[in-house]
Amino acid sequence: QPELWSDDFNDFICKCLIKDFELRPNVLDLLQHVFIKQIIGKERILQKQLIELIDLNQQIGVIEKTRHERIHTRKGSHMKMQTDPDEVDDLATLEVLDEQLQSRYGRDQIYTYVGDILIAVNPFHTMEIYTPQRYFVSAVINIFMKISVSLCVQCVVISGESGAGKTESAHLLVQQLTVLGKANNRTLQEKILLVNSLVEAFGNACTVINDNSSRFGKYLEMKFTCGGTVVGAQISEYLLEKSRVIHQAVGERNFHIFYYIYAGLADRKKLAHYKLSDSKTPKYLCNEHVKLGPDIVSKAFYKEQFDAVEQCFKVIGFTLEELGSVYSTLAAILNSGDIEFSPVASEHQTDKSNISNISVLENVASLLCIRSDELQEALTSHCVVARGETIVRPNTVEKAAEVTDAMSKALYGRLFSWIVNRINSLLQGQMMICNDDKGLNIGILDIFGFENFKKNSFEQLCINIANEQIQFYFNQHIFAWEQDEYLNEEVDARVIEYEDNRPLLDLFLQKPMGMLSLLDEESRFPQATDQTLVEKFEDNLKTKSFWRPKRVDLGFGIHHYAGKVIYNAAGFLAKNRDTLPADIVLLLRSSENELVRKLVTHPLTKTGEHGDTPYHPRETTNMRTQTVASYFRYSLMDLLSKMVAGQPHFVRCIKPNNDRQANKFDREKVLVQLRYTGVLETAKIRRQGYSHRILFANFIKRYYILAFHAHEEPAVTPETCAAILEKAKLENWAMGKTKVFLKYYHVEHLNLMVQQAT
Ligand code: ADP
Ligand code: MG
Repeated sequence: QPELWSDDFNDFICKCLIKDFELRPNVLDLLQHVFIKQIIGKERILQKQLIELIDLNQQIGVIEKTRHERIHTRKGSHMKMQTDPDEVDDLATLEVLDEQLQSRYGRDQIYTYVGDILIAVNPFHTMEIYTPQRYFVSAVINIFMKISVSLCVQCVVISGESGAGKTESAHLLVQQLTVLGKANNRTLQEKILLVNSLVEAFGNACTVINDNSSRFGKYLEMKFTCGGTVVGAQISEYLLEKSRVIHQAVGERNFHIFYYIYAGLADRKKLAHYKLSDSKTPKYLCNEHVKLGPDIVSKAFYKEQFDAVEQCFKVIGFTLEELGSVYSTLAAILNSGDIEFSPVASEHQTDKSNISNISVLENVASLLCIRSDELQEALTSHCVVARGETIVRPNTVEKAAEVTDAMSKALYGRLFSWIVNRINSLLQGQMMICNDDKGLNIGILDIFGFENFKKNSFEQLCINIANEQIQFYFNQHIFAWEQDEYLNEEVDARVIEYEDNRPLLDLFLQKPMGMLSLLDEESRFPQATDQTLVEKFEDNLKTKSFWRPKRVDLGFGIHHYAGKVIYNAAGFLAKNRDTLPADIVLLLRSSENELVRKLVTHPLTKTGEHGDTPYHPRETTNMRTQTVASYFRYSLMDLLSKMVAGQPHFVRCIKPNNDRQANKFDREKVLVQLRYTGVLETAKIRRQGYSHRILFANFIKRYYILAFHAHEEPAVTPETCAAILEKAKLENWAMGKTKVFLKYYHVEHLNLMVQQAT
């Protein structure tokens, strides 16, 4: 009876719990916030809740110890600062951040707090710290506790440049969270961990910077019951770099899965079944001059990975039939790359093209379960509607190759989206079993970092805009948070200044004059060229963040928050239009393979089967209307709406050197990253503002000796604090409602005085 659950009774229960189960105060908090409310509301089974709680209590016991040590060091840090800064793991108060990070790094202390931002420096070697008792976990627990107590969505934003360790950190986080939110169902726990490996096989590739570089953005949401048990997960993917399927920059590779499947099928003597040949490597996999780590080049390694991927598929719940279709589609893509076109001179002097290796065409058609004559037609000609009449026009060799590449890219992109959606529906099935409306949610964002190469194209522009948006979100939180604290304590502080990148976001996203809108507008003109596009940018974007560099054809520069980038607009229009000719779409829709049909089917006609959700939101009724830019804008907004609903936690990954070497710390490199990610700024703000906010009681306990006799017990009031500060001849401090606000040098000075006085 809720009304019987009086405060006294509540107290009584709490005392019993503390006594009998040795519940910790913060677990008790949790109990009061979550469990009791639930027990009252829903008459849940008390016993089960308690067992869960006691388990949690034990886990937190371990964690608390680490946390306690952390807080303890942090508090002690004021005293130790000059002598032993290495002991400090919240560096917000320190001046020389990079130096501190370096010495911590030397001791394999790769995680460091700057204020509430967690910095993770890539160790580039395996470390033994990821057991539940250790350090990283304290960050995870923080998040976990917050979600349990505040019942609010928690959102972990992991950022950093390519190779800085974002994906690894995300993976570790998920690992810890599944251990913590121990699924009563071990299989679910396993599945969630496998999802990562599976999606990475399809979405990651070797680049010059990282052997396992994510070529898409990933937002993983883990769902928990109010009791903290993990009950499901959902992934959203953003901006897969499809162009990699058909072309890789010098020294780079195609998506992992292609190498895995090629080696794996060869091992099983199944290449012929999938129309692949052992003696002739598919063209899409032939990029030369790739420098790779020794284990990565070996066929044995790929084969193992293939087995692992297949195992992931099976455990997550894909059917054998689906698997077969996935392999066929991949093999069809590989074969497509090998179709060769040759020119046919015709009487009318038009450039016609012919397929010179029909057998390869037949392979593709057979793998996609379509007719080869129709495929040939769709590749080598196109329909135009002129004055109400449909005319068939031949494709030039170039055009035919373009259409083939467009088909490969589209098939791969859609296959990836389909896999992600299939995973989601398979994991959702689990959730319905333990349907809990009030479920809690932790989201983890692992997004590709800021990119600045020798040559930057449309892909880099999109990636960098996404980073610009994330940075904006970061600024809002860090600086808004600071401002709030001053407001709550009624302290008069200068308005915080920081590098606001709002104007840049407007430059890209504003309608109708932002860069993406201009790009879309130009993409609608059939006569437009990349040259007219750049001119349009130049005419309309009047800001100092945009400029046209001299002597660079089709070049334009943008001053991002993270630095200046010169882009090359060659191919922008084609990439943005991303057209898949209607002939190809219609042909694929006629496929006898269910998966192939699904990949090109309008998602609004939901396939009810297995509770599939529409897996390709970008389709509209007319497949040609939506550009990559507008889809990109849509997904960015979608991502943001998820993020702003939650309480953010920032993990900033730092790459200590460019050589992927353990124990090598390049100060200059680290400093640049700290600067542009806003970490230095944050630290500066903490210093410029009042970096130390100490509760009156604590302040008095620590420093009363400077103004009172040792045996005195001055009252805990703001006046007492003021008396101490005046006696110490300090200025520029501020008095809040519950705390004294001090600058970092005040604390140093006070500490020194205390040392001298005692
Ligand atoms: P990003 O996703 O930021 O591009 P990754 O997470 O893929 O970078 O990390 C790149 C490489 O760095 C990994 O393949 C791994 O070798 C190493 N690495 C990153 N984080 C860790 C870590 N916490 N422990 C050990 N090695 C790591
Ligand atoms: Mg990554």
